[in-house]
Amino acid sequence: MDILRRAKEEGRKVLTEIESKEVLKEAGIPVLEARLARTKKEAVALAREIGLPVVLKVVSPDITHKSDVGGVKVGLKSIKEVERAYSEIKRSAAEKVPGAEIWGVSVQKMAPQGVELIIGMTKDEQFGPVIMFGLGGIFVEVLKDVSFRIVPLTRRDASEMIREIKGFPILGGYRGEPVDISAIEDMIMKLSEFAYKNEDVKEIDMNPVFAYRDKAFAVDARIVLE
Ligand code: ADP
Ligand code: MG
Repeated sequence: MDILRRAKEEGRKVLTEIESKEVLKEAGIPVLEARLARTKKEAVALAREIGLPVVLKVVSPDITHKSDVGGVKVGLKSIKEVERAYSEIKRSAAEKVPGAEIWGVSVQKMAPQGVELIIGMTKDEQFGPVIMFGLGGIFVEVLKDVSFRIVPLTRRDASEMIREIKGFPILGGYRGEPVDISAIEDMIMKLSEFAYKNEDVKEIDMNPVFAYRDKAFAVDARIVLE
């Protein structure tokens, strides 16, 4: 876990999306890989390599909520759009967070529409690390439709916490195809194992995770250290 060690040495508490995804990938959790472009030219080269359409996001140790500062541009379908998005992200982020250290922009594939989930880890004063699961968007923000289990989880815990949220029928195909629930269970189990082994991790946020008929992966990720 070189990334965790390096961030700690540098006195950084919040890892970037790119770093967080690398750490989670090493822990066996599927993520949508994001790569760093330090210049517009690099962003274009990466977009060509990854294949359009792509998503660009601001990469800064000082910015945790990227879309709040105009730092996320999705569905970029041409090189021209990539170039424009790069400039707009940098300008907007610098304007909204004056003095922010901006490392560049991350480039990643535009993921097809899936069912949006949230999977996270926080530390409870009494119980220590707990895993949270919920459906994304209004389900979490408005309805607070989430479930919790204490780390370390059993497979049965993971299975139950998915099934006990009110929105569970949506995963079973209420609004389309059913999603791969065992892939979601796997992600929860891997996250529990990672949290159990890494006491210096304070918080993990995978928001959103996209779930599909045959897989699930984290589209955004954030790790906060103690
Ligand atoms: P933040 O939470 O820091 O504002 P996110 O990375 O979560 O930024 O991006 C904001 C939203 O943009 C996500 O909730 C998701 O709906 C969409 N999004 C982000 N990355 C992708 C992607 N690679 N493919 C498709 N949609 C994406
Ligand atoms: Mg997010």
